[in-house]
Amino acid sequence: MDKRALNKLSYGVYIVASALGEEKAGYIANTVFQISSTPPLVAISCHKNNSTLRFILESGVFSVSVLEKNTAATLIGEFGYFSSSDADKFTKVKTEVKTTGAPVVVDSSTAWLDCRVKDTLDVGTHILITGEVEDCGTLSDSEPLTYAWYREHFKAASPPNAPTYVKNPEPVPSGPSGISTSEALPANDPESKVTYICDICGYVYRPDDGDQSAGIPPDTSFTDLPDSYRCPVCNAGKDYFRPMD
Ligand code: FE
Repeated sequence: MDKRALNKLSYGVYIVASALGEEKAGYIANTVFQISSTPPLVAISCHKNNSTLRFILESGVFSVSVLEKNTAATLIGEFGYFSSSDADKFTKVKTEVKTTGAPVVVDSSTAWLDCRVKDTLDVGTHILITGEVEDCGTLSDSEPLTYAWYREHFKAASPPNAPTYVKNPEPVPSGPSGISTSEALPANDPESKVTYICDICGYVYRPDDGDQSAGIPPDTSFTDLPDSYRCPVCNAGKDYFRPMD
C-alpha cells in the first residue's frame, strides 16, 4: 500500500474550538467537511488525546473558524502544536460568541461555523463528530488557507494528533552530517552562542545543548546546522527559525 496516495487528498485548515463555562479549548484541524445540505451538517475528526475533545463532548457544541491564506505561522503553531491543557491558546486571539456559546476565533479567519453535536463515532485514533450548523457567517473575502499550501509553505508535517499524521514522513537527520568541526565557528564568535526560536511552535534551539533528538552535539551553532535540520517539535525547516531578541 502506497500511503503517499493519502497526501493527494485536499483539505483546508481550521481552528475547531469549544468551551466549558469560561474555559476555552481549541486546535488546528484539517478534517472539517460538509456531509449534508439539509439539514446542514459538517463532520470533524478529533484525536482521543486532544483535550478539546472533552470540551466538545461535554458542552455539545463546537465552532469552526476557516483560516485565511495569510494566517500567521505563530497562530497555527500556538493552536496546532500545544495542548489546551498546557496553555491558554486564546490570550492572543480575538473570539466572539455567536449562537451556541462556542468561541469563534475571528482573527485570521475568513468564515466561521457554529455547530451543535449531532452524533459521534469511534473510528480508531480519532472520534468522528457530526454537527449541525446552527449559525455561520463570512468575515472577509480572503482566500482560505489550504492544507497543501500550508505544508508546502511552512514545510511542516502533520502533528501526531492529526488524522493525516505520518511517522517520519521523510528522512530525519540521524547524525551531525554536514557539520564539519573544522568549519564550526570559533567559540569566541558571538554567532556561535546565539539561540534561535522556531516561529511555528516556539521551540528554542540552544547551541550549548545542541539537539540530541537529531544527533546534533552540544556547542553547535545554529548556522552550522545542516540545511536538512528540522524543528524537533513541529518539523518546520531552518528557514522558520529566527534569532531570539
Ligand atoms: Fe517548531
